[in-house]
Amino acid sequence: MSDSPQPSSVLNRARCPNCNEPWLRPTQLPGRLRCVNCLSRFELVSQCPNCGEHGTIARMSQTEDLQCQSCGASMLREA
Ligand SMILES: [Zn+2]
Ligand SMILES: [Zn+2]
Repeated sequence: MSDSPQPSSVLNRARCPNCNEPWLRPTQLPGRLRCVNCLSRFELVSQCPNCGEHGTIARMSQTEDLQCQSCGASMLREA
């Protein structure tokens, strides 16, 4: 009995900064994601390019980790 929705991987719904479609998927490489829609590759940076705050690259289960927890800027960099 499971009546609570279980998002198996929130990262599977992460939005691509390039085409704005929620098709970012984690790749085999840690900290790397690829958009299966426009085939762009992105790197999850450990330091916010906007304010310089360090993010947590280890925890990849929350979409918030794709954004700077300090200023909300995207921690994704086109790779
Ligand atoms: Zn895309
Ligand atoms: Zn920031």
